Amino acid sequence: MHHRRTAQDTLTAIEMDRRDQLDFVRADGVAVRITLLDTSAQLIRTNLDQIKVEKPGAVTELRFDCTFEIDGQRHTLTREVSTQNSFYEPFEIAGVRFWPDAVDGLFEFMDETHGPCRPRKHARLALQDASRRICPPPLHPWCPLAEEGLDIGECYNGDDTWMGGYFGASAHGGLDINHPRGTPIWAPLDLDDHFLFNTEAEHGNNRWRAFRRWPNGDLWTIQVHHVTRLTVPPHTTVSAGVQVADGAGVAVGAHDHSHFVFVVTHPGQPPIKLDPWILFWQMYQDRDAFADHFYLRAQRGRHTGLYPDD
Ligand SMILES: [Zn+2]
Repeated sequence: MHHRRTAQDTLTAIEMDRRDQLDFVRADGVAVRITLLDTSAQLIRTNLDQIKVEKPGAVTELRFDCTFEIDGQRHTLTREVSTQNSFYEPFEIAGVRFWPDAVDGLFEFMDETHGPCRPRKHARLALQDASRRICPPPLHPWCPLAEEGLDIGECYNGDDTWMGGYFGASAHGGLDINHPRGTPIWAPLDLDDHFLFNTEAEHGNNRWRAFRRWPNGDLWTIQVHHVTRLTVPPHTTVSAGVQVADGAGVAVGAHDHSHFVFVVTHPGQPPIKLDPWILFWQMYQDRDAFADHFYLRAQRGRHTGLYPDD
């Protein structure tokens, strides 16, 4: 299959099968030809008794590769899932930034029973012209963020990254960040609408969803689960940086945490779920704009809850 996409002012998400070609037109008008040659997934280690059978506390670490031909050169992009390296720097090749998000082969080692996240093709990736941000405005922190970056130890049981193995066996359709009940959840960007699409009373969990339609037609959907309450009325527009909810507190299991979700929908295309890390990566790039809203953390694993000016 042949695809053609032109770099927008927001991120491009795409799924590709092996041998698919993508002509990605950079901001300077030059098309970069990207062919997916191969994908694979490997087990780094697990303490499961049996692959794909959940065991509370079990950890399964995985690695995956996407091999591309990019403008005639072969490149293998390697990622890890459920490890600290889940919080990766995107790759820059031929003036294009690549976030290899997932490969179907990961499901040799995991089931999809913990939120939809399986690619419909061999690989899922996000792309952007290397000179551009993932979206024009700076992103406000979604929640208070550790200055030193995201920590795998703070992802629920220490492995619940996007696609991480929940109880070692089920791909996790979100990114969990541990923080105390009531931790503020801020709008990372201006929002057109927001509401709880699940409530504790009806569904046993409070799940918040918000939308942003960009002028180019792209729709971004973001979600936070386990919130304790909304702090602004639902179905209103919200400006970036406004606290929309108190996080972490409902149906949190073993650790108080919030569960983050990111979905990109291009006009006329099915929605594509992506690693929320991509948003957090941009937040860290933008940290100087919102330095007051990053946590000070006195010691590893312990949130102080204090802002630098307090
Ligand atoms: Zn979760």
